[in-house]
Amino acid sequence: MLKKVSGNRSTFGRLRRRALVALGASLCLTSPALADSPAKAEEAQCAKGGSGPHLLEASFAHGLSVTVRPSHVAPGEIFQVDLRGEGLASASFAFAGHPFPLFELAKGHLRGYGAVPVNQAPGKLPLKLRAATQSSAREGELELTVVEREFIQSTLTVARRFTSPSKEQKARMCADRKAFKAGYRVAFGSPHFGSRFINPVAPDAKINSVFGVRRVFNGKLQSRHMGLDLDGTTGTPIYAANDGVVRMAHDGFAAGNTVLVSHGAGLFTGYFHLSKFAVKKGQRVKKGQLVGLMGKTGRVTGPHLHFSAKLGEVTIDPEALLSFDFFPDEAQVAGLEASE
Ligand SMILES: [Zn+2]
Repeated sequence: MLKKVSGNRSTFGRLRRRALVALGASLCLTSPALADSPAKAEEAQCAKGGSGPHLLEASFAHGLSVTVRPSHVAPGEIFQVDLRGEGLASASFAFAGHPFPLFELAKGHLRGYGAVPVNQAPGKLPLKLRAATQSSAREGELELTVVEREFIQSTLTVARRFTSPSKEQKARMCADRKAFKAGYRVAFGSPHFGSRFINPVAPDAKINSVFGVRRVFNGKLQSRHMGLDLDGTTGTPIYAANDGVVRMAHDGFAAGNTVLVSHGAGLFTGYFHLSKFAVKKGQRVKKGQLVGLMGKTGRVTGPHLHFSAKLGEVTIDPEALLSFDFFPDEAQVAGLEASE
């Protein structure tokens, strides 16, 4: 069994920054995954942290130890799990009903990332870990705290053609679902990246709509906005948020021209509504490389980039991905490069 040896808890204040939905700004009307988020003064702080109080450490019997940072996470956010011990061969954990495999960072050191689904209720949630050494298998469990996060609701009145797709449109939507599913079907593996993620438009790109916003169309709750809408004009260059492999370049009904990039370790980024593709499926891309041009293809009210992020099956807040410090110390970057 895992035994918790320390776990500092901070008090999360009630104060939450409310993000504004820019009225009249270009937005996505729907998509498999679109969102807006308010939120997170403290949580973002927490997600940024690597050391200090927001760390959960525990130890297995037989010399295996696990570290989780941060110890408090909000819906849409990610966390990092490190497992250390002699003879470690493989490990994975389950959290909120989703599996998250670990990869080998260095000999005797496995790492993985986990995510909190947008609909997850606050409270203490078990993280169930399984590890295999050369000679035996072990299981352990520790608790992570999911903090409350409020999502704003936005009300839109749109033409009926946007809310009631025709038969042909429905067929296209089914084809899109298949294309996305295939795009996301890839083993977690090791990260393809060795540094933090960047904003695909510009570091100071204006946000039209955040992650998690509940969208009410014509008085009916129809979707959540599961990404980040970044403002701009048609033709604005869109860059890969990190190193990776293009898994899909597809013309979707709702998403428009969309590029999906797999970054390894279960992480994906998506670039929606492009006017032009600059990459092809299967192509390797470097962080900052052009993947396409901003546009207004798909179901949108005007040109913008819908930027999405996923960890395994869980859609996460792109802002949480951008603010997460994947490499809090240089030694770990060196370790990662050495393992490639
Ligand atoms: Zn969007």
